[in-house]
Amino acid sequence: MNIIDLYEKYDNLYYIGGVVRDILIKMPSQDVDITVEGNAIEFCENLEDCEIVQTNPDFGTVRVKINKQIYDIASTRKEIYPQKGHLPKIVEIGCSIKDDVIRRDFTINALAKNTKTGEIIDYVNGREDIQNKKLRVLHDESFIDDPTRIIRGLKFATRFGFSLDEHTKILQDNYLKNINYDMCYKRMKDELISTFNLNSNKAFSTFINDKIYKLITEKEIKLPDYDIQNLVGKYYKKINNVWLIYIALVDTEKLELNKTEIKIVEDYKNLLEMDLTNDYDIVKAFENCEIESILLYEITKNDGKAIKYLDKLNEIKPEINGNDLKQIGVPPSEKYAKIFDYILQEKLKNPELTKMEELELAQKYEKNTKNM
Ligand code: ATP
Repeated sequence: MNIIDLYEKYDNLYYIGGVVRDILIKMPSQDVDITVEGNAIEFCENLEDCEIVQTNPDFGTVRVKINKQIYDIASTRKEIYPQKGHLPKIVEIGCSIKDDVIRRDFTINALAKNTKTGEIIDYVNGREDIQNKKLRVLHDESFIDDPTRIIRGLKFATRFGFSLDEHTKILQDNYLKNINYDMCYKRMKDELISTFNLNSNKAFSTFINDKIYKLITEKEIKLPDYDIQNLVGKYYKKINNVWLIYIALVDTEKLELNKTEIKIVEDYKNLLEMDLTNDYDIVKAFENCEIESILLYEITKNDGKAIKYLDKLNEIKPEINGNDLKQIGVPPSEKYAKIFDYILQEKLKNPELTKMEELELAQKYEKNTKNM
């Protein structure tokens, strides 16, 4: 048996959520979610040629191996939000497909497609909203239950060029005027990452102009006058945390950052305090920073120094190394660092210096500082 045989044999299996939306929009899907109307664990236990790899009975999910391939299959489930802004509580596993889809964020994500018949299950006019490029929540409490949906809306708007339907925009604005900051910021961070990794000026200006940023800070934030998308695009391959370039311009205090992310934000703040008067200052300031901090400096200061560093100064390095110093009779010591630093200063003034000239300068430096 392979998965297609399974899809064609049973009539309670559905593609669900984003994958159905993506089929209708004709976009490639990031992942394919499959749901059993009923209990997926029991369903899979009764299948032949299906090896259960892992189960999570609390969520009703199961990982299986069919014909050497791994699949995650979910049960239909009904959820409620006892604590607004936090994880929902599952109140029923194996509910109707209708109850499963109406717990979702936007109508475009509340579609299911029967794997056997190909019939699209659409209780909430999701297809029409896809056609009209509209993002519509399923009920008026949606953002109160889960404010991360506001960021998800921004993500889908950016990705598909959709806009919020009028009533949904009013609900969003109302929520943003009265935010409950007691929320799960881990989920918020995940959504910010996937949204701002899209590197979109448009998403960022909506985030600022529509005051969506209020979800992560109580401060007032203005849109920087800088083409961030273009800047990030230029260095894209070197950047691991595109999202953080956008979000550090706002505020990261409420988000739980990892070590690297903390360093990026701290270095950026420190850079802003520095007086970078010459090329040597620039190199010394930026050389141990991640590219995100350097670009944040550029966006904030807009003085071209970070670009000069990335495009030019960064490449200028002494050619001589420790072995060369040993060969000219300088015994290995802490002084090596001072010598390299001195050569760097000279090389920044004159990038054409040859290795021979560097060695001569090193020798002179060593002579002049012998007893220091
Ligand atoms: P992507 O293409 O970014 O993966 P997706 O819609 O598949 O988009 P997921 O985050 O994988 O996004 O979520 C899968 C489905 O789960 C969504 O399509 C939606 O139906 C539902 N969902 C996800 N997050 C929420 C949420 N915060 N509130 C309600 N439903 C959600």
